[in-house]
Amino acid sequence: MLDTLIKNALVLPMTGAGAEPDCSIGIRDGRIAYLGKDKPEAREVIDAGGHIVMPGLVNAHAHTAMCLMRGYADDYTLESWLFDKIFPVEARLDERAIVAGTVLGMAEMIRTGTTSFSDMYFCEPAVAEAVLKAGMKANLSNAIIAIGDGYDPEKDRAVIETRTLLKDYGVSGDVRGDISIHAEYTSPVHIWHMAHEWAAEYGAITHIHLSETKKEHEEAKARHGMTAAAAFAKNGVLDTKVLFAHGVWLEKEDLELLAEHGASVAHCPVSNLKLGSGIANVRAMLDAGINVCLGTDGACSNNSLDLFEEIKLAALLAKGSSFDPTALPAYEALKLATVNGAKAQGRGDETGTVEPGKAADLIMIDTSKPNLRPIYDPAGAVAYSARGSDVEMTMVNGKVLYRNGEWLTIDVERAVREVEEYAVPIVLNK
Ligand SMILES: [Zn+2]
Repeated sequence: MLDTLIKNALVLPMTGAGAEPDCSIGIRDGRIAYLGKDKPEAREVIDAGGHIVMPGLVNAHAHTAMCLMRGYADDYTLESWLFDKIFPVEARLDERAIVAGTVLGMAEMIRTGTTSFSDMYFCEPAVAEAVLKAGMKANLSNAIIAIGDGYDPEKDRAVIETRTLLKDYGVSGDVRGDISIHAEYTSPVHIWHMAHEWAAEYGAITHIHLSETKKEHEEAKARHGMTAAAAFAKNGVLDTKVLFAHGVWLEKEDLELLAEHGASVAHCPVSNLKLGSGIANVRAMLDAGINVCLGTDGACSNNSLDLFEEIKLAALLAKGSSFDPTALPAYEALKLATVNGAKAQGRGDETGTVEPGKAADLIMIDTSKPNLRPIYDPAGAVAYSARGSDVEMTMVNGKVLYRNGEWLTIDVERAVREVEEYAVPIVLNK
């Protein structure tokens, strides 16, 4: 017998097949065991009431704990934002504050339909425990920043935490370790070699910020005599699986290089606009054969973790910047947030579509809301009309994490209190 049957659903499977009304999804042991028109027996039945059921969304570039600084540093230039506002706060944050920010961020992600995220921040072994408790999936990394002559990897918390993550969680579970080189401009080449050897040894993904701003992109060229992407490729970093964030200023040759090496790029349109970094050419990346996915970046440069905003904005920017309304159609925009995100996390066989054998990582969208009526094309409705607040149920591995206003794995009131009473005074240095 099935554990759960979701019946009467308008299923948007994201497999290339169209949306199917009056459909049932059967779940056994956390996986999709049935998809079709029948209603096989199950211990628990969820009536979808004709609402859209689709794969959970993947946030492929996040600094989740930065929810602590949501609205703390709006409208600064990137440099002043980072050096005057963010770095001093981050130097004060302790593990308890970081876990508090992460839990708040996960509550928002679960509420708005994200089931898996790629996180880059500090205290990741403690974050891993919080992710397991919340029931989400996550690729976790602490970015290596190796500035100055005195840098010793053996004393770097990022290196120590990465070792712990890889030892305790490996690279294949619901929670898994990634390796992270923060960016081209924050570490010398021999550190990239160290990270790459590690990635090869463990089969881990390397998560890197790439060509986010024009200044950074041009400085990399002056430093290496080639673009950051080319420098990473030349030094072997792209020979293992890489997830780059941003890629706003990538050049034509960079796109070919990334595609050739099977790299992924997490497009972060809201963050790129808010920090005035520019507009990544998603159409060109996709045409080159790059696996493009979506990320929110941190809530201090967004200020939301609602991936529905990224989906819509990614499509609109691609259209508006090319004067071509066909540049990124709704279905393709949704693929960035589902299929492609799962692939970028190394979870392509496990999640990102609704089909038998895959994990039951599903979301239900309340299509009875006025802003979603009528529906001619379900993919268009999700990409252009839906908001994160229209998600009425979020499920990971067949377990409901959120339904109809209720979080089942996170005490949200407590999470908000912990952030405001414990962490905010640290942010404000009070
Ligand atoms: Zn980032």
